[in-house]
Amino acid sequence: MTGLRPLIAGNWKMNGLKASASELGQMIAGAGGPAQKADLLICPPATLVLAFAGAVQGSPLRIGAQDCHPNPSGAHTGDTSAEMLADSGATAIIVGHSERRADHGETDALVRQKAEAAWRAALIAIVCVGETQDQRDAGQTLEVVGRQLAGSLPDGATAANLVVAYEPVWAIGTGRTPTPKDVQDVHGFIRDQLTQRFSGEGARIRILYGGSVKPSNAAELMAVPNVNGALIGGASLKATDFLAIAGAV
Ligand code: PEP
Repeated sequence: MTGLRPLIAGNWKMNGLKASASELGQMIAGAGGPAQKADLLICPPATLVLAFAGAVQGSPLRIGAQDCHPNPSGAHTGDTSAEMLADSGATAIIVGHSERRADHGETDALVRQKAEAAWRAALIAIVCVGETQDQRDAGQTLEVVGRQLAGSLPDGATAANLVVAYEPVWAIGTGRTPTPKDVQDVHGFIRDQLTQRFSGEGARIRILYGGSVKPSNAAELMAVPNVNGALIGGASLKATDFLAIAGAV
């Protein structure tokens, strides 16, 4: 971990019911130790943001959301705006997750609008990028990640309003991870892109690694230069795993 205060963020995806408050309660109970070294964020489904944001008050845990509509309000049935999520107590929004890019056809331009929407609501945008297996096999990883960064990140990014998550699509939910050297190469490339575009601020924007992070591999991945934390899917659903990963930074 290099200099910057790490962020350990959990993405619950489409998992969690009211009863999941007990898992959150265990996270709150155990957060004190890990929070001495890292920021801790849980992004439940939108249905739980309000209740979870209330539950974490007074603890070091923060609550985020997983997506938003670019507009603040209007005729968009079924969508949720950044302003609504902020009003419910979210402090950050994940945008451009590969599942949204794949399942909902989200383009870089739309992801950029969503990141801008998060900022408009005074929330942190966690912008996800990452290559597919085919793109990796074709040697296109840096080209793909560079294009996603250029298209998805709005102007005006700062260390306070932006987090980038590098999530190789082939590593998400598969149990497979890149080697530390591969992670170092991509994170180093992302760091270069950020500093070229946002100057000194780019050196302080956190870059998370995501994709099959678990307690057994967290320490090795978090030790890679320019890895400033983790975005965790499956393992963030269990308090013991989430806290073990957070404790590994
Ligand atoms: C994710 O979807 O953001 C993710 C990293 O998932 P997992 O940890 O389950 O691979």
